[in-house]
This record gives sequence, structure tokens and C-alpha cells, in this order.
Amino acid sequence: MEASTEPLTPLQSAPLIDPFGRAISYVRVSVTDRCDFRCVYCMSEHMAFLPRRDLLTLEELDRLIAAFVARGTKKLRITGGEPLVRHDVMRLFESLSRHLETGALEELTLTTNGSQLSRFARRLFDCGVRRVNVSLDTLNPELFRQITRTGSHELVMAGLEAAQAAGLKVKINVVALKGVNENEFITLVEFAHSRGFDITFIEVMPLGELDGPERIDQYLPMQIVREKLSAKFTLQDSDHRTAGPARYVRASETGGRIGFITPLTHNFCESCNRVRVTCTGKLYMCLGQEDAADLREPLRASRDDRALHAALTEAIGRKPKGHDFVIDRAAQVPAVMRHMSMTGG
Ligand code: SAM
Ligand code: SF4
Repeated sequence: MEASTEPLTPLQSAPLIDPFGRAISYVRVSVTDRCDFRCVYCMSEHMAFLPRRDLLTLEELDRLIAAFVARGTKKLRITGGEPLVRHDVMRLFESLSRHLETGALEELTLTTNGSQLSRFARRLFDCGVRRVNVSLDTLNPELFRQITRTGSHELVMAGLEAAQAAGLKVKINVVALKGVNENEFITLVEFAHSRGFDITFIEVMPLGELDGPERIDQYLPMQIVREKLSAKFTLQDSDHRTAGPARYVRASETGGRIGFITPLTHNFCESCNRVRVTCTGKLYMCLGQEDAADLREPLRASRDDRALHAALTEAIGRKPKGHDFVIDRAAQVPAVMRHMSMTGG
């Protein structure tokens, strides 16, 4: 899978910098909207998935990513849906590893539900992946089934072991769900830190319409998560930062790191260096806003990447300063209508 070899003009290869001076160095790409789970906060039970022709092909994804890398992307996160259920996705990882070899890309990571890690952990490592984020909201197999509807806890546990055995650094992502997993936060931290994993708690975001429980009823502010953890751990502020929006503390008792993501507040917009691309090639300049640029059309228009680069320049010129998430009991619709599985976490 080769990207276009057309030489770029200086303008086409200029780093992507938005109107607020933020260099776009971190891109998340969703490679599929499909998933083997149906997490209650993410998908409805009977999701209608996109027709395959709407999805970018692996070749198109590869070209698109190469264009971002040429324009200054240093960190790339592959996500979904569940990225590892995309047919032949390892072919994409194998191809992307060339950007790590040249040093243009500093990090290639993925966010996964872990169900396929037993199969793919070793190959991911061989492609240069060194860290994976694995979603795990509970250690209770019964509750795991209720939250994911179709997921197997056992498979994810095996996946975590495989990841570790392959040499991948693991971060556990926990969506904090009021009345669902809130009594497990301490146990989850103990579990993660005992295995040398980082762990991050995430507030539920108002993305997409669901047929399950109301988002407002699931919402648990990070402050409460922190308070619950403080009952057991001494939380020391840490200046550790990743390319993502999490703020970190260290638990003195375990020595391990705990992250908190509070997307509903504006505390990370100023330093936002990120954009997201959906599996259909829509570029979202901000997770919390509807504005998007279509990259599929310029990708399909020709093998030449000029139109694609022009679309990138134009889109980044529209990256907004911040977002407006609101979980509001009075509002009957979510603040942003698309599902997380469209834009990727
Ligand atoms: N399937 C993979 C997974 O679950 O890790 C990758 C995609 S998933 C959409 C990425 C992350 O988004 C997961 O950590 C998931 O828990 C989180 N997520 C999904 N819907 C969410 C929501 N409404 N609010 C907050 N986080 C959400
Ligand atoms: Fe699938 Fe991830 Fe969404 Fe759960 S959170 S339904 S695993 S895409």
C-alpha cells in the first residue's frame, strides 16, 4: 500500500497550524464504526452500521494518514468502533509502521475493547505499537456483560495478558457510570496498578442517541471519582502529560498513575492539538462541535494528494477555539448527535 509519490509544494507540506496557533500534532482515526460490543453509553442495542462503500478503504486510510504525517502529525491513535474487528486492519498497521521507521511519526497507538488482543498483540508490537488503551469498566463478569451487552470479560482479560506478554504498555480506560460501576473504582485502580497499568477515568459524554439509560442518569462528575479514590489512596498531583486531555495524579500507596478526563469542562481546549477523522473520512476539528470537513471526496477524486492537502489546510483554518458540551435535563437531545463510535474515543 503506497501513498502517492507526487512531490508536495511548500504550501502543501506546511505544518498544520490552526488560527489560534495550535499545531495539529495528534490525530485520531476511526477505522470502522462496527464493534463486537454494544456498550450502553456508546451504542444502541440495534445499531445500524454504515454501508461498506461509505467507509474509507485501508488504502485511503493509509494515504490520509500519510498526508497528516507529512503535515506534522507526531502521534496517531487508531480507534473505532472496535478497530481490531476491521477486516485486515493489521495490513494498515504494517503499512503505517514506515512512518515510525523514518521518525516522522513518534507514536502509533490504538484504543481497543481488548477482545481481539490475544490474536493481535504480538503483531501490533512488531508494527511499532508500544502502548494500547484498553476499555474496561468493571471487573465483575456479570456487570461487564450488562454494560457491554455482548462482550466477554474473559476474552478481555486474556487480551490484557497477551498485550503485556507482547511488551505493550497498557492503560485502562474506565467510563465512570453513576450507580453502575462507582463502587469499583478503588478495585479497578488496585487491579491496574498491581499489573503495572495506568488507569484513566472518563466522564460520560453526551454523544449520540441511545435507547438505553438516560445519559444524565449515568453522569458522574470526576470530582466524585476523585473523592471516592481519596478514601483509599493518597493522590499526589503529577505533572505527567500525554498527548491526550487527561490530567494525572499518582497514588502514593501503589506508586501508579491515575488519569481523569473531564471533557464536559473546558479545561483542555486551549492546548488542544488534536483532530479526529471518522471511518468515512470526515475530519472533526473539535470533538464537541458539529463542524466537519469531508476528506473522502478529495481522496477519491484522484490519486494525486493535492486536493486532499488543500482540504486539510482549509479545515484546520476552521478549528474552533473550544466546545460547548452540556448535559442538561431540559434538553431532549444530546449536545452532539453523532455516536462516539463514529468519531472514536
Ligand atoms: N472500541 C474501543 C474501546 O471501547 O476502547 C475504541 C472506541 S471507543 C468509542 C473509545 C473510548 O470511548 C472508550 O474508552 C469508551 O469507553 C469511550 N466512550 C464511548 N462512548 C462514550 C461516551 N458516551 N462518553 C464517554 N466515553 C465514551
Ligand atoms: Fe464498542 Fe468501544 Fe463503543 Fe464499547 S465503547 S460499544 S467497545 S466502540
